[in-house]
Amino acid sequence: MKLDMKSLFFDEPLSEEVTPCYRSVVLVGPPGVGKGTQGKLLSKIPGIFHISSGDMFRELDEASELGQLFNEYATRGELVPDDITVKTWQKYVRNKIEQKIYNPETDLLILDGIPRNIAQVDLLSPYINVLIVLYMVCDDREVMFKRIQGRAIKEKRQDDKDEYVVRYRWDYYKRFTEPIIDYYPQDAIRIIDADAVPADVLHQILSVIVPIQKKHFSPPLV
Ligand code: AMP
Repeated sequence: MKLDMKSLFFDEPLSEEVTPCYRSVVLVGPPGVGKGTQGKLLSKIPGIFHISSGDMFRELDEASELGQLFNEYATRGELVPDDITVKTWQKYVRNKIEQKIYNPETDLLILDGIPRNIAQVDLLSPYINVLIVLYMVCDDREVMFKRIQGRAIKEKRQDDKDEYVVRYRWDYYKRFTEPIIDYYPQDAIRIIDADAVPADVLHQILSVIVPIQKKHFSPPLV
């Protein structure tokens, strides 16, 4: 599908305006490593706002131009072009702020699925202040493929059904996403052992982000 960026975002002069620098934690890990599970658990905690870029796209109206475009890319296991992704993300965040769901003054932003390559790290850098990068590591590729197969049935995700597409996404991760770990300042990286049970993984993540929350935010009013 040929896409006209103007028709998608014509009423939104997003990048020109001054945008606050959202204080963020970036989750990095291969498909099936458990980023979504952890993100959902973290989002229950006051003072934390979690964004999954995959969920952001899946929430789009399927009949819309952007929704159709997303479907085309996602069923092939490919990424939506970087500029469209970042603009969609900016608009999404702004809506959440307007709806008072996310408050950048009080909430730590957890990013899951974005940035996905070095170009996206650069495109996002004016808008996010990356406090920490959580690098979720699980060496057993087959364990992750099994998790993805389970998710395909539970969540009816087209991109999880086809083994070829799953392997393609894995290769993309290895070639383009994992290198962002070397691109960020090394003192910002924290390794999380994602082979562990979900409660243990959550424990490891909290032991990193609680001190970050304490340092950068006042206690949330609950
Ligand atoms: P995920 O749920 O993170 O596996 O994402 C599902 C699909 O959404 C991907 O295969 C892409 O088509 C699209 N997508 C999610 N995040 C991004 C991103 N950061 N950049 C481009 N496309 C993305």
